Amino acid sequence: MKKLFGISILLIYTILSASGIAQGQNQDRKMSFTVSMDQPASHYYQVEFRYDGITEEAVELKMPAWTPGYYMVLDLAKNVVGLEVKDGAGKPLPFRKTAKNTWTVQTSGIQSLIATYNVYATRASVADPYLAENRGFISPTGVFFHVGGKLSHPVMVTINPWKEWKQVSTGLDPVKGQANTFSAPDFDRLYDCPILVGNQEILSFEYKGIPHTIAIEKPGTCNREKLAADLKKIVEAGTSIIGEIPYKHYTFLIMEKGGGGLEHLNSMAVFADVSKYGEADRDRGLLGFFAHEYFHLYNIKTIRPVVLGPFDYDRECLTNMLWFSEGGTVYYQDMILNRAGFLSRDQYLEGAAKGIGSHENIMGSRFQSAAQSSWDTWMLFFNRAENSQSVSINYYNKGNTLCMLLDLKIREASQNVNSLDDVMRTLYQDFNKKRNRGFTDAEFREVCEKAAGCSLSEFFDYVYTTNPIDYGKYLAYAGLKIDLTPQEPAISYLNKTMNKRSFLISIAQNPTELQKKVLADWLK
Ligand SMILES: [Zn+2]
Repeated sequence: MKKLFGISILLIYTILSASGIAQGQNQDRKMSFTVSMDQPASHYYQVEFRYDGITEEAVELKMPAWTPGYYMVLDLAKNVVGLEVKDGAGKPLPFRKTAKNTWTVQTSGIQSLIATYNVYATRASVADPYLAENRGFISPTGVFFHVGGKLSHPVMVTINPWKEWKQVSTGLDPVKGQANTFSAPDFDRLYDCPILVGNQEILSFEYKGIPHTIAIEKPGTCNREKLAADLKKIVEAGTSIIGEIPYKHYTFLIMEKGGGGLEHLNSMAVFADVSKYGEADRDRGLLGFFAHEYFHLYNIKTIRPVVLGPFDYDRECLTNMLWFSEGGTVYYQDMILNRAGFLSRDQYLEGAAKGIGSHENIMGSRFQSAAQSSWDTWMLFFNRAENSQSVSINYYNKGNTLCMLLDLKIREASQNVNSLDDVMRTLYQDFNKKRNRGFTDAEFREVCEKAAGCSLSEFFDYVYTTNPIDYGKYLAYAGLKIDLTPQEPAISYLNKTMNKRSFLISIAQNPTELQKKVLADWLK
């Protein structure tokens, strides 16, 4: 009887688990937003959040403190103005602020909650909401509340554009039959999908049957056909590295000229002037920028350090690994351009020399390691001080160089069988797909050493210390040499001294067969 009873309990639990009830899920629970923008010149969005099927005594409405990919606490709750909360019958519900980004609403005996609020949106950046008569940029972390403890809940969003605007562009999935209405399976997805509202021009192309949309705010005399064809080449070269495309549709949100871009799983939001694309000699720079934000769909969105998704939206997420997640993406933007035929071998090597100089020729390289630069980015990246260049480095620059050295080391040590591409594929398959999580510093090193087939202790010292790097040794793996002649006079800061160098890279004489093969397979 006891045993039978145990089985019955197990059976009931199994049924409840399968239906989701045992895990506290409420089948009637629904969350949806409506965003309106009747007067863009006022810079205020009007937002309504409806939450049905409430079972909690109290509900926390929370606005993220930061936007993933933009490592700075923005305290986006500061833009919320005029919050009102009512039940389904329109009766006001009591609430109070319980943390800097949290409003706690008493919901005892209440099934539905409707929160209305305005969002002040004036900062034109890829990480903040913006609204004016030129466009609406709904940076989701600054517009949509989430309910504390319910980040994994599905959500719907309806956008009511200003009467003068006709286009709504986003990576969110459209809901069939409902205009400007979109769905997300959870709030991590919603927060990863910015929405551009305005009169942007829409171009499109397909790659392997997957639709790609290009939304351009200021197309000017842009050569549309060439831009779409060039972006398609970037998509082809980028996706070929991993061999899988983890999205069903992709959207390029290209706003007017300005600064910055932000990566997302199936979209990018960038400020870029494409109004003369096809005429100007700066096209390659633009393509490098697009390749960078695009390849982030792998490196950082899926291939990621363990703290970078799922995110803690309340506070900073510290990691040593941005030298790889950002610097590695700079490295791969050039690999993509080279493989897609936009960047020659000579142009790459010239850029690589400049890249080395950009961190070796500043005093900061003597004080701060790549890992430390990554860890401290929340304090330092957007808060430059007078001594910044003397005591800190940029992990984009040093990380890019380190990834080049790592790639060369793996190619040489594996007799040109493996490369950094194999590391990327392993990280994608073994962590993102099989374990659905990011990797630790130690796991990353393990994957690299497996690809190389040997210890990489010297290389990882270059990551975690400011030890002088033996560039000549690593570049020689591809039959290259580097000019390390010191330029006079020496420069001093605190207790350190250094000489600037050109770091020019050239092809060495009489390469071995392995050196020839490494170079040929590495750079076209
Ligand atoms: Zn980046």
